[in-house]
Amino acid sequence: MKRSRLLTLLVGGVFCLAVMSLYRMLELMQGAEPQPRRDAPDEQDLSRLQQKIDRLERLLSDNNRLVARLRDSLLQHKASWERGGGGANVSSDSTHSQALLFPDANSRNVKYRLSALQLLDVYDLLPFDNPDGGAWKQGFEIGYRGDEWDEQPLELFLVPHSHNDPGWLKTFDGYYQDQTRHILDNMLQKLSQDHRRKMVWAEISYFSKWWNDIDDQKRATVKRLVGAGQLELVTGGWVMADEANSHYFALLDQLMEGHQWLHRHLGVTPSSGWAIDPFGHSPSMTYLLKGAGLQNMVIQRVHYAVKKHFARQQTLEFLWRQTWDSSPRSDITCHMMPFYSYDVPHTCGPNPAVCCQFDFHRLPGRRVFCPWRVPPQPITDQNVQERALLLLDQYRQKSQLFRSPVLLVPLGDDFRFVETSEWDVQFTNYQKLFDYFEQHPELHIKARFGTLSDYFQALHRRLGAAGTSLPTLRGDFFTYADRDDHYWSGFFTSRPFYKRLDRTLEATLRATEILFSLTLAEMRRFGADGRPDARFPARDHFRRLTVGRRNLGLFQHHDAVTGTGRDPVVVDYGTRGGAYCTSNPNPSKGAGLTVFPTINNQYPDYRIRVLIIDCFRSLIVFNPTEQLQTSVISVTVDSPDAHVVDAETGRPMAAQISAAWVEPSQVSTEMFQVRMSSSMGLLIGSVIGLLIGSVIGLLIHVAVALLRGRTSSSVLRLPSGRLQQLQVQFLWYGTRTGTNQEKSGAYLFLPGEDGPQVKSPLVRVSRGPIFSDITSCFQHFTHTVRLFHLDGHAGKSLEISNMVDIRSEVNRELVMRFVSDVANGNRFYSDLNGFQMQQRRTLLKLPLQANFYPMTSAAFLQDSGSRLTLLSAQSQAVASLRPGELEVVLDRRLQQDDNRGLGQGITDNKLTASLYHLLLEDRRGGAQEVGGATVEHLSLLAHLTSLSLSHPPITMVAPSDSQLPKLRPFLPLRLSLPCDIHLLNLRTLEDTQVRSTPGDTPLKHLSDVSCWSWTTGRVNLEDLFSPLRFRSVRHSSLTLLHDEPESAWQPQRITRLRPMEISAFRVQLD
Ligand SMILES: [Zn+2]
Repeated sequence: MKRSRLLTLLVGGVFCLAVMSLYRMLELMQGAEPQPRRDAPDEQDLSRLQQKIDRLERLLSDNNRLVARLRDSLLQHKASWERGGGGANVSSDSTHSQALLFPDANSRNVKYRLSALQLLDVYDLLPFDNPDGGAWKQGFEIGYRGDEWDEQPLELFLVPHSHNDPGWLKTFDGYYQDQTRHILDNMLQKLSQDHRRKMVWAEISYFSKWWNDIDDQKRATVKRLVGAGQLELVTGGWVMADEANSHYFALLDQLMEGHQWLHRHLGVTPSSGWAIDPFGHSPSMTYLLKGAGLQNMVIQRVHYAVKKHFARQQTLEFLWRQTWDSSPRSDITCHMMPFYSYDVPHTCGPNPAVCCQFDFHRLPGRRVFCPWRVPPQPITDQNVQERALLLLDQYRQKSQLFRSPVLLVPLGDDFRFVETSEWDVQFTNYQKLFDYFEQHPELHIKARFGTLSDYFQALHRRLGAAGTSLPTLRGDFFTYADRDDHYWSGFFTSRPFYKRLDRTLEATLRATEILFSLTLAEMRRFGADGRPDARFPARDHFRRLTVGRRNLGLFQHHDAVTGTGRDPVVVDYGTRGGAYCTSNPNPSKGAGLTVFPTINNQYPDYRIRVLIIDCFRSLIVFNPTEQLQTSVISVTVDSPDAHVVDAETGRPMAAQISAAWVEPSQVSTEMFQVRMSSSMGLLIGSVIGLLIGSVIGLLIHVAVALLRGRTSSSVLRLPSGRLQQLQVQFLWYGTRTGTNQEKSGAYLFLPGEDGPQVKSPLVRVSRGPIFSDITSCFQHFTHTVRLFHLDGHAGKSLEISNMVDIRSEVNRELVMRFVSDVANGNRFYSDLNGFQMQQRRTLLKLPLQANFYPMTSAAFLQDSGSRLTLLSAQSQAVASLRPGELEVVLDRRLQQDDNRGLGQGITDNKLTASLYHLLLEDRRGGAQEVGGATVEHLSLLAHLTSLSLSHPPITMVAPSDSQLPKLRPFLPLRLSLPCDIHLLNLRTLEDTQVRSTPGDTPLKHLSDVSCWSWTTGRVNLEDLFSPLRFRSVRHSSLTLLHDEPESAWQPQRITRLRPMEISAFRVQLD
């Protein structure tokens, strides 16, 4: 009560102050102006009036800035009180905001500004009112006196770039042929003409393709340009990856593919990141970049209100820190572009109408023009002064948003610099402007073409010299909005079929990488002088593996896994990924094994049927996790009389045979599902025999009931005995109605009212010794809830699978919603890239679509007693719109384009499977939080469940007439890794020098505060792959470009990992 009164008073005070200062300025102005004479001519009067208005405008804008600053500081006060800081916080906060209230705007070295930012707090502070900011529509008027640069001149780096999407409106190959190869060809020629010219390039998928097409002379020129610092390879990833839907495995894999390529062909190690187009930004990406040795990065697509706030606070440059990290170990310097876009109109300064005049590709007569109707002019001796000053004004205004007088101005757009003439007009006109600046030292600007490294080196030098520090920031930049209420939460689910395919490809690739590396090491052990046995087609396998890596890498592009490409482009991605998934993961090619892609089991029409009538079939099962686990293997067979035995011992195994359904109420007479539980060691290939018509222990359990019922509602019991209500609902979201209303599309989610609940399903129930399940068949989807009767973590969660088909719908999105009595308030947690959990706050001041966040693999709700976790096998949008609720968007079908360049709706929906595990855990007693209230992690049980959900056993079947030698289990990993350590990959590197193939082992230490058997992160590498031994082990950066010095191999080598840490080792296996 007291607080709110104080706040009211403060608000009143602030407005009084604002009005007073406005009044005072008017008074001063009147005093300063000479009184108009009655006999003066009208024109003079008018011009005076004009001057007066101009001054008044300037004063008003100054005043607006002051009021905005006051409002920010007030909101800061409010937030700190609401956080319940109490008396202890008041003193420190009040000194802090004292400084905020009276900043010394003249000095760049002021220390008043925030030194630690938390994005969740920024969201609490901001009103999200979107006022018109004038020329900079989403910002504010920027003022300066003009003498700010007298002491320290403005140092400007103009960074030419061309944003090349590896697939969007055209396929990867289409763009390469039509645009990209010309851009790169011209780059060689045009940069060579003048050593002052520079360029940055990000997409290694294109660069490597072009490299394959050029001759040695051109390759030498590339190396010379790179060596001279004229061409910089930035980020160095295979693509500029999406940061919402991509799993950190794939993010790291594509980064490693790019970095390894660069290292091999150019000897380059990237130092700066460049992510100007991904639709929102994640700290998981920054963790990987820092771990790979990058020091700096640039981001662009951030909510416009957040940008404005950061611009006002001069915090557009910050040290991005991991939420869970209390040390600066993971910090990376980040530059956030302040304005709407990365094109030229939105990069030189706040006024796009002016900046557009300095995009010389838009000169009259060329193909593009300025929509602000003021075209660029070629720079001549006559206009150079006027043009230079006009541009300088924009540079100076932009510079006011940063703490240092070093300024980064990108020069480029999508697929720019295709024609040689574009290079000429851009570089020659800008050079004339730069020359003019050079000849006029009184302007206090040093301008030149630069790369990102040039910029960041100058930035760090100037910051260091001035003793200015950058603030630290924790949090992520989701959900992105570029204007109004246009939140980009639609792409979190768009094309869900492909999002699921992506994760299947990922799991398949990882399993294949591990199997290949271990098999290769085994083959070398048996081969002569360290070379693999000649009968093992290592080269061929490695080539196929590389294709798989690159297809997965390509799919992480921000128009691929996001589902925002054109229909034929989506098909192209799908063909690349799908082909790999179904053909490649076969480490014993030639043995005639058939692989069951794990995804197929969910698609009835694509199930591979194993013929077992009159024969014995061997299944080979590979557990790709590093944990001993009991899993359920599922196979479709042609006889209900199947019998399962352990091939090694001949002993019968527990199995359950159930019906395969062709229609919701019609059972197939030709297909049957056999599910057997198998306790499998870590990274082990087990052999299981499949028999039919056995004389003993025929295990058939088909118990089916057809019911008419409603949506499922159930009660879950916690281990403590506590009961938890849980209901699953299915709902529709429509689009906005009315012809002028903007509607949802591939990127945007602009929902109308949420639709009615879906009702009256046909329900099937089956029970057996391995599992029991309930399947509800609705018109548009089938929903199965399954409980496995197994020991270990597999038996502790509910498996939920959906098969969705909304092809008959128009402008609708289907949602699965859990309604529980967990009292989570407005807070819930969703993961970022499967790497970490991020707290979310559902805010009423934001529209519904803004409260949806990406869920790559997990989300949970919790109160003081329990936690409800949804683990997901695919990326989707997630929200908790009301306390106790958690909902995911399953599929979206939208007939129209949403005006972000795609030019089409998304109507290529498919029959789409989705898979989850739902876990209810007791939080009483063991629950604790580390590093502040915003940091939470998945429990160890949830981690393990998520791991087996993402990496299910890989099943292969031997042909019936198999001449296979008697197979024995393959046990590469001698001991289970500690349960909180995950083997991310075991990847063989291409080494052109020695043709040997060392592997690398990124390990991740999962942090778990409520873990029931957590370790100290110690791994004994000596024992890891026994009997294989390490010849050498070197700790390295995440993409293996920066190795620790080689030390003598020590037996019993123990390596320690910190919580959440990912470590990479370059190892040689003997
Ligand atoms: Zn793009």
